[in-house]
Amino acid sequence: MTRRLEGRVAVITGGCSGIGLATVERFAEEGARVVIGDLDDARGDEIAQRVDGLFVHCDVTSKGDVDALFAAAKNTFGSVDVAFNNAGISPPEDDSILDTDLDAWRRVQEVNLTSVYLCCKAALPYMIEQGKGSIINTASFVAVMGAATSQISYSASKGGVLSMSRELGVQFARQGVRVNALCPGPVNTPLLQELFAKDEEAARRRLVHIPMGRFAEPREMANAALFLACDESSFMTASTFLVDGGISGAYVTPV
Ligand code: NAD
Repeated sequence: MTRRLEGRVAVITGGCSGIGLATVERFAEEGARVVIGDLDDARGDEIAQRVDGLFVHCDVTSKGDVDALFAAAKNTFGSVDVAFNNAGISPPEDDSILDTDLDAWRRVQEVNLTSVYLCCKAALPYMIEQGKGSIINTASFVAVMGAATSQISYSASKGGVLSMSRELGVQFARQGVRVNALCPGPVNTPLLQELFAKDEEAARRRLVHIPMGRFAEPREMANAALFLACDESSFMTASTFLVDGGISGAYVTPV
């Protein structure tokens, strides 16, 4: 059977943990050469070695680091076919607007939104030149729904990622570059575990709203990213790709 990403080069930010790590492994299984951009030097080299890929230390808020990441993919493996712009944070200081200070607001915007702008800006010229490419930006279900348990900067940043992805998808459609926003529901990763460790009540409140009654596993998001990355999604661009266990479709959930 043909592997779905055979011969493709995929850049994945935040590839050392959670959704990003599961996607590194999944893409490699499907034949991709994977380039991981992350801050986590301790894990990065080991993961890259395991999948026969490349780790590049990269702070996604730095234009220099991001440009160097995509240049490394091109120089090492010859192309930039897939960009999974996925690194993101959800720190406890980002809370209700009433309690979130400007520094916390700005930090989250930088890591979650400015980073996606930088990664798309770096990836697009390679893909336009090739006449082909798939960009997947990780937004969230909170980009399309309001949460009473607020993380105001996080939600706003993901709304920005969704809008930016849609516009880029439209702008570059005729140049062969597809841009989609992956909108996960809650996924069982360190990011979510950290958030809910301090507040079990918040975790319980979230579960009530998920028809499936459970959080997603990282591999379920990796499979969704794989679909968007490969040619099976060839007529999809500028989409809001919700993989949320039914949250966005629910008025009430079964108990
Ligand atoms: P995670 O915390 O498990 O992993 C995030 C990775 O990003 C880590 O390896 C970390 O080192 C890296 N990272 C953080 N800041 C960085 C920076 N400045 N530069 C480079 N790398 C950096 O997170 P996750 O749960 O896998 O989340 C991945 C993405 O999915 C994020 O954008 C997140 O907002 C989004 N998301 C997560 C959930 C969820 O419930 N976990 C739901 C919806 C969307």
